[in-house]
Amino acid sequence: MTTVGIDDTDSRERGMCTTYAADTVARRLERRGASVDRSLLIRCNPAVEHKTRGNAALALHTDASANVAFDVARRTIDEVAKAGDDRTNPGLVVAPGDPGRVPESVADFAREAVDDHLARSAARSLVDRVGYRHHGWKNGRGLIGALAAVGAWRALGEWTYERITYREPTRWGTERTVDPESVFAAADAYAPTIWDTVDRGTGEVVCVPRTPGPVLYGIRGDDPVACRAVAEHIEGEPVDRARTFVTNQGTDGHLRDGVVGDVRDGYAYRLDGTVLTAPETRRGGHVFFEFGDGNRAIECVAFEPTKRFRDRVRGLRVGDTLTVCGEVSSGTLKLEKFAARELVATEPATPVCSGCGRTMESAGSGQGYRCRDCDTSATGKRRRRIERDLDVGWYEVPPRARRHIAKPLLRGGFDAATHPER
Ligand code: ATP
Repeated sequence: MTTVGIDDTDSRERGMCTTYAADTVARRLERRGASVDRSLLIRCNPAVEHKTRGNAALALHTDASANVAFDVARRTIDEVAKAGDDRTNPGLVVAPGDPGRVPESVADFAREAVDDHLARSAARSLVDRVGYRHHGWKNGRGLIGALAAVGAWRALGEWTYERITYREPTRWGTERTVDPESVFAAADAYAPTIWDTVDRGTGEVVCVPRTPGPVLYGIRGDDPVACRAVAEHIEGEPVDRARTFVTNQGTDGHLRDGVVGDVRDGYAYRLDGTVLTAPETRRGGHVFFEFGDGNRAIECVAFEPTKRFRDRVRGLRVGDTLTVCGEVSSGTLKLEKFAARELVATEPATPVCSGCGRTMESAGSGQGYRCRDCDTSATGKRRRRIERDLDVGWYEVPPRARRHIAKPLLRGGFDAATHPER
């Protein structure tokens, strides 16, 4: 068995997609009589600054020899990568042997690629140490993702699927023709095993990218057969090719358990604490609140594109205890989901007279309250029940705003009730 790791072949302006490069390598290997048993699409740390879009890296598991796989992949990348873009620095790593038995150091590297920041020098020295054939184009940054993709099968434990269809090359860069009704119908027929295909709240199709690249649509889910069936039910322009990828999408692999005082920019966390200030909608429609754990505080934000999720955030009150999840950037946590653990149920209110039912008046500083007409009194404020629009449990951004790696609540396995967005 041979593992071919590939990364960083595409360009935001010039198009391409590393999944397409990998599919091309797979097809060429298959044409030579080899089989490709598995195609991995690994989402590395989404906070990495050099990413083009979703920080994807690819690996193929094939029975081609390491030498053949290396030659085919190298020539393919030469041909398809958009290396004319300064930011595109392809990398190729080819490892012999069982992908589930790569050295522990390679598996560790893959884990770190998903939730940490790695240097090009670390990739180069490790790939040399373990003796894998490799090639880096230009500054070779793609070696990081390529090596991570090689280590991923041993490193990661949770897998989902994406069926990606590709456009005919003559159509690349033009508007995509996909019938939204057929997408909604297929998404409904296979819910909830497939997710993030549409956003039922806004009526948007989210599986069709807007970028200039070769992808027509991608169907994500827990069951590869359902992903494929949905892809085949969608009507639109001709599909030129398609491949099912095994992925770490929808797994929350980027989140680390942390405490508010220790967070750093460029990492994504799960943090426990309390709402310290009332949510405030600022310019642009972004909703902010302060969150803390008794020692330190951090600002949390729900951005405007998260749409109805902001109403959930606006529903929070000072004193609510939460677990918040998201990436920290410039000292602010960008909310992807939160769990309401305990919601404040009462608030202080001026007492009401038991005789006439009217609100009492202050009897003077520190003197409590009284009703002059009925001559009743109360020593202090009472607690009034608050009507809350939120329930205890997990809330999340809608499909339109979901990061590739973020786990949809529909997938289950959360530690409290869930309120999934569909
Ligand atoms: P594509 O659609 O081609 O996959 P992308 O959004 O995935 O685009 P890349 O073009 O692959 O982005 O760029 C991401 C770059 O960051 C790659 O060179 C990759 O090797 C590197 N990289 C990935 N993970 C890390 C990490 N954890 N630390 C540092 N660099 C990383």
